[in-house]
Amino acid sequence: MKRETPPAHVRGMNDLLPRETPHWQHIERVAREVFRRAGYREIRLPLVEEAALFVRCIGEATDIVEKEMYLFEDRNGDRLALRPEATAGCVRAVIEHHLEREGIQRLWYAGPMFRHERPQKGRQRQFHQIGVEVFGIPTPDLEAELLLLSDELWDALGLTGLVLEINTLGTAAEREQYRNVLLDYFRPHRGELEPDDARRLDRNPLRLLDSKSGPTRALLERAPPLADSLGPDSRAHWERVLELVTAAGVDYRVNPYLVRGLDYYTQTVFEWTSPALGAQSAVCSGGRYDNLVEELGGPPLPAMGWALGVERLVALVPAGRSEGPDAVVIPLGAQAEAECLALLRDLHRMLPGREIELSLGAGSLKARLKRADRTGARRAVIVGEDELKRGVIQVKVLVGARRTDFVPRAQLAEYLVGGIPADPSQ
Ligand code: ATP
Ligand code: MG
Repeated sequence: MKRETPPAHVRGMNDLLPRETPHWQHIERVAREVFRRAGYREIRLPLVEEAALFVRCIGEATDIVEKEMYLFEDRNGDRLALRPEATAGCVRAVIEHHLEREGIQRLWYAGPMFRHERPQKGRQRQFHQIGVEVFGIPTPDLEAELLLLSDELWDALGLTGLVLEINTLGTAAEREQYRNVLLDYFRPHRGELEPDDARRLDRNPLRLLDSKSGPTRALLERAPPLADSLGPDSRAHWERVLELVTAAGVDYRVNPYLVRGLDYYTQTVFEWTSPALGAQSAVCSGGRYDNLVEELGGPPLPAMGWALGVERLVALVPAGRSEGPDAVVIPLGAQAEAECLALLRDLHRMLPGREIELSLGAGSLKARLKRADRTGARRAVIVGEDELKRGVIQVKVLVGARRTDFVPRAQLAEYLVGGIPADPSQ
């Protein structure tokens, strides 16, 4: 027989194996609870949107739109894209369903995103985000709430050492003005820039601010600061943001070079990073986007949000100890097998929250006990012909001081939660 090449996963799109999913589920549970208690509600969006939505939202001259999108035509010839982020979809859904008419929208989402980047540690092509978006609030209390919310999430996950950097970009008009200031400043030095940054100067000069290239950084030291382009309203907004974030007890560092890679941001932008992550250090980032809803044809609706990378968070949050089942039910013989299914159903009903699994397949008691041990099971609940006759069940404690008890069937559930001592004389 000809041997087939076994299938492999698509590069950058990883499997999450059962040994990893409990860690993810823990993070998801904690996030869901942190959002719930702050009044956020979940929104679930399609993974696929019209490609044009992302181009209009994120901007033509961004890394995502220029080179990272998964684009395809479906069978109707519609130009679609796998979502590279979820803010665009949220904005579309808010507009489409007129959610703003139902009052302030505090939304959260979680799920996979797709970007065709070079896979490396902390960077995948299918990765996962958990994010929040709030619609309808123009005032700086929103910045404070969203930054507090992220900080509360780190607390709830037991994460320390994350660093918050924050900056303001002003209104769209002020940002545009600063863009021209930067252009005027950099143009005479175009020849000194590395090719990537020379291109940025032509396409999206603001991105020069977060360039890592030496010549650009040196030039930036003498560049006029963005703060000089802010009008009085933006300044007042920014000062109040910093006051309130301080009042919320969230530490931050103002980074005047932080611009973020998406075009839709106005006013406040921020990024949480971890020095423990190496090169891909950004864990969570976001900002205000006061014009986006209206630009897409919706009502004037100020908004702000953030998104975190779950893979990077998983790398930071200590994994809990994974525990085996509370008990494994082991039937010995055909009749016991039939009886054990009813027993299993009873135990699942009576002990919600406990993990009780059936010993599947064939094998001697010895072999089955060995398999149960491998799963880390704490008890073996054994039903054989003898037990059936006597109406009792044999329970072996598999951890710590090993022992065997015989328990009347009717008292098994109570025994398993430690409610009654077994009669060792049996
Ligand atoms: P980076 O600078 O690392 O490319 P970004 O600015 O593109 O990040 P955002 O679009 O703001 O990131 O997404 C929010 C978060 O999602 C990031 O802070 C990061 O934790 C995570 N993230 C983004 N792209 C990837 C990816 N390709 N793989 C894994 N996580 C990612
Ligand atoms: Mg990126």
